[in-house]
Amino acid sequence: MSVAIESTLDVSTEPQTQEQPVSFADLGLSAKVLAAVTDSGYTTPTPIQAGAIPHALQGKDVLGIAQTGTGKTASFVLPMLTRLEKGRARARMPRTLILEPTRELAAQVEENFTKYGKNHRLTVALLIGGVSFEDQEKKLERGADVLIATPGRLLDHFERGKLLLTGVEVLVIDEADRMLDMGFIPDIERICKLIPFTRQTLFFSATMPPEITKLTEQFLHAPVRIEVARASSTAKTVTQRLVKSGGKPWDKRAVLRDLIRAEGDEINNAIIFCNRKVDVSELFRSLLKYDFNAGALHGDMDQRARMTMLSNFRDGKLKLLVASDVAARGLDIPEVSHVFNFDVPIHSEDYVHRIGRTGRAGRSGKAFTIVTKSDTRYVDAIEKLIGTTIEWHDGDLSTLPASDESESATGRGRGKHDRRGKQSGRPSKTKEPEVIATEAKPEDPDAVERRARKEAIRSDNAARRVQPEQRDRAARPHRRNRDDDDINTIVGFGDEIPAFMMVSAKI
Ligand code: AMP
Repeated sequence: MSVAIESTLDVSTEPQTQEQPVSFADLGLSAKVLAAVTDSGYTTPTPIQAGAIPHALQGKDVLGIAQTGTGKTASFVLPMLTRLEKGRARARMPRTLILEPTRELAAQVEENFTKYGKNHRLTVALLIGGVSFEDQEKKLERGADVLIATPGRLLDHFERGKLLLTGVEVLVIDEADRMLDMGFIPDIERICKLIPFTRQTLFFSATMPPEITKLTEQFLHAPVRIEVARASSTAKTVTQRLVKSGGKPWDKRAVLRDLIRAEGDEINNAIIFCNRKVDVSELFRSLLKYDFNAGALHGDMDQRARMTMLSNFRDGKLKLLVASDVAARGLDIPEVSHVFNFDVPIHSEDYVHRIGRTGRAGRSGKAFTIVTKSDTRYVDAIEKLIGTTIEWHDGDLSTLPASDESESATGRGRGKHDRRGKQSGRPSKTKEPEVIATEAKPEDPDAVERRARKEAIRSDNAARRVQPEQRDRAARPHRRNRDDDDINTIVGFGDEIPAFMMVSAKI
């Protein structure tokens, strides 16, 4: 089914803050929803809420350009709840569908329905990978008012004949640009075509690359466009610093440890970003070895381990969370005091997303980015994107000792040998521990956390056997695995290519 475009997009790019109503009561939400919002302690709608909710309640399509942390989840959950008060669910025919790129985001949206829907009697079903089909099928059988799903698992259920999408009245596509990065767009197109033409579509994306614009032109009807903050801006409340480092992984780990120690009690909790999940594993183990209170989050961990890590981090049981971009994207973790970029992100927009984890809602935050000689062009791209120069923390790269000017390990020259190389010129006498699987020593060990950490290490072992593919936007991947919500899937030998295969052949 092809969808005719009734009008072009309303391209107002100005933030809509000035003209917004000032209270939730002005937005047209139902009494039950308003009561739940009041109980949650929120008094003023955020700009995306104030901008999107009145239009969503009128049944219009909405194109929301907003990052996570702007309150965008409530901007679709609240009007959906109001709308769902009329009518009831039928078996296997959900009334509304929310598509999320990752399991964690899907689970977070479910939490929002629990919080704001506490005065409603609605059935919410979560269809995500890594969990048994049977329980999910039972929920579908009973009839779901709200279906929250990752695209792959949704299509799996559809193909098993357990799901009809012809009753969907409201479709939400959240984090569309991340869906694009993860190769989910063909799935999204397919799902959109399975849902009636008369539906309402609420579409959210932090950035609008051409592929996403095309998608909105294809599947949205005369949408109201609401843009609350440019994706290329970082909050003014975040102190950003570049930190020089030698290029070897142990150099960077030593720099990170020094930074964490120097920040001391100023760190309430911190997310440490790595570009590849293999590095997430390695850094996580190293931090545990040095007795830091750390957890890890990446796409190879099983669902329970990921959720446990996340909730321990949210509850303050874990101070440091090492994460990949995909795993951490959109996670609702309030009051992150620090962000450490262990690797400079290759795509400059990822920098904005990472930094967006701190300095939320006017709070202050700090963001440190560890930079090696070979990262300079990525730093240049970031500075160009955010339109400002980031200050160096303690002298720029030219102040590095000559022995530290080695090539960065990011994506290059990695292997068993350079991890232990004697010629590293490492400044510290402390021997960097070999990164091997060990039992974690949490500060306050309880059984669940121990299991989660064990699972993280087990998953790390699996991840270490393989190499991430190059994230090349020009050739965005089709997803390989329905349940895979991390693009850093590794193929072939990865970087463990046997030496004999590297010998050039004489023809
Ligand atoms: P989101 O962008 O949906 O991930 O929301 C980010 C955070 O803002 C979450 O912790 C929400 O609970 C919180 N939040 C949502 N709406 C409001 C509001 N109107 N006032 C204050 N905080 C909010």
